[in-house]
Amino acid sequence: MKTKKLGSVARFGARYGKRTKSKVLTVEQGQKVAQKCPYCSRSAAKRLSVGIFQCKKCDSKFTGKAYKVGE
Ligand SMILES: [Zn+2]
Repeated sequence: MKTKKLGSVARFGARYGKRTKSKVLTVEQGQKVAQKCPYCSRSAAKRLSVGIFQCKKCDSKFTGKAYKVGE
């Protein structure tokens, strides 16, 4: 099913409500793109587990928020 607004959370169909799904959507959109590394400031950091990120370029491992690097 392809929808304009829902994106990756379209798989949940009509379930779970709008607010929950929009939160999941912002998390899942952040998982697709590489996060910005605070050390070399390149967009190359990936999430290893909850709050832990690693940069592919400078190989530094650092903490951030649960699903994204900062802010
Ligand atoms: Zn880096």
